[in-house]
Amino acid sequence: MEIERRLLAEKRTRGNIAAAAAGRVYSGLKYRPAWGDSTGMRYDAVVIGAGSNGLAAAVHLSAKGWKVAVLERAAVAGGAVKTAEITLPGFRHDLFAMNLSLFAGSPFFAAHKERLINAGVEFVPAARSFATAFPDGTWLGVETDLEATAGRIAAQNPADAQCWREMAAAFDGDAPHIFALLASPMPSIAALRTSFGAWRAGGRVRSAPSSPAS
Ligand SMILES: Cc1cc2nc3c(=O)[nH]c(=O)nc-3n(C[C@H](O)[C@H](O)[C@H](O)COP(=O)(O)OP(=O)(O)OC[C@H]3O[C@@H](n4cnc5c(N)ncnc54)[C@H](O)[C@@H]3O)c2cc1C
Repeated sequence: MEIERRLLAEKRTRGNIAAAAAGRVYSGLKYRPAWGDSTGMRYDAVVIGAGSNGLAAAVHLSAKGWKVAVLERAAVAGGAVKTAEITLPGFRHDLFAMNLSLFAGSPFFAAHKERLINAGVEFVPAARSFATAFPDGTWLGVETDLEATAGRIAAQNPADAQCWREMAAAFDGDAPHIFALLASPMPSIAALRTSFGAWRAGGRVRSAPSSPAS
């Protein structure tokens, strides 16, 4: 009660700033600061950066009725999730992120799936998903066929190929716990419960199998 009395007294003497503080303390999310721009527009929130997280935050807030502005300094929105023709015409490359499975399986995508698809979002599954080209012209690629990938790694180092197989086998058991944890708010009781469940299931963090020096 004392803090409320002091905040309300401040509100009377200092106006909006203290009023906002009082609102924040006692109204939780009902408190909405007001931001303005040079055109006289007023916003409840200003998000800096139109990457996937910034855009998701903006969508969450506007779904709650907030008036949101998103400011982006790059010519194209998307942050580190962008595709462009940067080599030969017709060849489209993911410039940064390329495995969007986490996003595709996220509660955010589930909640906004229809509108995102209508706006043009489309996932392109790829069996041969990524590769690294080396300066000497050789390359190493990863694909969904475990043995095909292990075979390529074995050409470089047979012990590493065995590590790859072991990690792939361990991942099947660990994946449900990892994805459940990634989908939990941090920090939260839910995250703690998920971690405890993973520990009980034996899904402790594993160290990568060590490969003998080649
Ligand atoms: C090389 C690379 C590979 C990745 N691979 C994957 C992957 O395969 N799968 C996966 O799930 N994730 C991957 N990630 C991670 C994923 O891309 C990021 O988690 C995601 O992009 C983060 O989104 P964000 O909105 O937080 O930030 P960002 O995507 O970085 O976006 C930030 C935005 O803010 C803008 N900005 C910054 N400062 C200002 C400013 N002062 N004013 C205005 N605008 C500003 C930037 O221009 C940018 O558009 C990868 C990231 C990188 C860099």
